[in-house]
Amino acid sequence: MEIGSSDKSNGASLAVSWQNETRLAEQWARVRACLLAEVGEVEYRTWLKQVSFAGLAGDEAVVMLPTRFLRDWVNKEYGELIAEFWRQVNPAVKRVEFRAGAPSARPAAPDLAEPAQPALAATPKRQEPVSALDQRFTFETFVVGKPNEFAYACARRVAEAPATPGFNPLFLYGGVGLGKTHLMHAIAWELAARPGGGRAVSVAYMSAERFMYRFISALRSQSTLEFKNELRSVDVLMIDDLQFLIGKDNTQEEFFHTFNALVDAGKQIVISADKSPSDLSGLEDRLRTRLGCGMVADLHATTFELRYSILEAKAQRAGVEVPAKVLEFLARKITSNNRELEGALNRLVAHANLFSRQVTLDTAHEVLHDVLKAHDRKISIQEIQKRVCEHYNIRLAEMSSARRAQNVARPRQVAMYLAKQLTSKSLPDIGRHFGNRDHTTVMHAVARVTELAERDAAFAEDIELLRRMLET
Ligand code: ADP
Ligand code: MG
Repeated sequence: MEIGSSDKSNGASLAVSWQNETRLAEQWARVRACLLAEVGEVEYRTWLKQVSFAGLAGDEAVVMLPTRFLRDWVNKEYGELIAEFWRQVNPAVKRVEFRAGAPSARPAAPDLAEPAQPALAATPKRQEPVSALDQRFTFETFVVGKPNEFAYACARRVAEAPATPGFNPLFLYGGVGLGKTHLMHAIAWELAARPGGGRAVSVAYMSAERFMYRFISALRSQSTLEFKNELRSVDVLMIDDLQFLIGKDNTQEEFFHTFNALVDAGKQIVISADKSPSDLSGLEDRLRTRLGCGMVADLHATTFELRYSILEAKAQRAGVEVPAKVLEFLARKITSNNRELEGALNRLVAHANLFSRQVTLDTAHEVLHDVLKAHDRKISIQEIQKRVCEHYNIRLAEMSSARRAQNVARPRQVAMYLAKQLTSKSLPDIGRHFGNRDHTTVMHAVARVTELAERDAAFAEDIELLRRMLET
């Protein structure tokens, strides 16, 4: 390990003058912003958020992690990266030392929500480390499926030809984690990457929260005119999570004027929100009306197919082999949104790397225990039957039918077995749910499935998959 790692307490003298401290705190904020841009939000939150900066000791930047485990892991996985970014922002830093322990009491670095270098009106550059745009959020990495194909097509269209009548403003809406921000960043990247010739397109992307923060700061420093001019000089303005402006009347007013000025000047506006313009009650009527004047595109809740494709694409990108059964399991279980899905996959991958183990159904279950537990509930025989039928691709009626062909008899036995395992129903009760069969038939099914599972590993895994899908 070239990068320092020790248990030395934070008491060692860290020669930092008070004056320097603010500067260092700013540098640390930039290092963190670089890390965030480099690894993405999920990974950052999982591993790097807890890194704190203790100070500079000679040419060493000392950073702290709350536990030894985290210290070693972050050091191993991100040590070089952190050191590299430190060297970039402060050439006096040669090395980074990782320590375990409580963070020191010195003032925290400015929060990332307000980065020291706002990316307002910046034409995104791929090589620029500090950028409000996530490098992973491009059209190439966006997986298209039924729920999002329309929004995707609209975003593509705007990126190809900004300010096309009918597409201005482009209003993207949908629940958390369905890809609104991803699409907005993708538009920005695409515009930035457009082949030269003409003038570069200037894009301003910011959250509505950031917009408000900028506006209030401008008011405070009496520089609202600069703020207005700056915003009105861009070709494309994107405001993410507009719902944040509800109840913020002055900011809303300012946004309304900016919006009108830009649209009148033939500039493109892209907005995202959690609801459609008409459902955003609390926004001023005239603003709502204008928001709905262009193209309104809805990102629908994901489907199993889309979730599966997203997982597949992400696993491939991460270069990790994840068995189809595990992808299927995750896609069935984690249905809330794509962010959770991605988070779950990242955790699996990190775990597999950490312990040099392969990703299996077992590890998935183990690692994601807490996530899956959230979905815990009572299981009914009907549910079991439905799942089993889906799995084996047979009609639900076959669960109660008298047919004995193996392609339906075996799934029926599996369903009986699972009903015995996963519910507290008695054997006669279970039998009744399967076309009034006798309890001895159920007993036989349980014995038969148990025996088969012992002999046939693939079959056993199938049962396990079903059991877990039902259980968690
Ligand atoms: P929102 O802004 O709608 O809350 P995000 O755009 O932040 O959601 O998406 C959450 C996460 O899910 C991001 O990491 C994003 O890359 C990922 N994601 C969402 N939709 C897709 C998709 N269709 N293909 C690939 N990744 C997606
Ligand atoms: Mg978002």
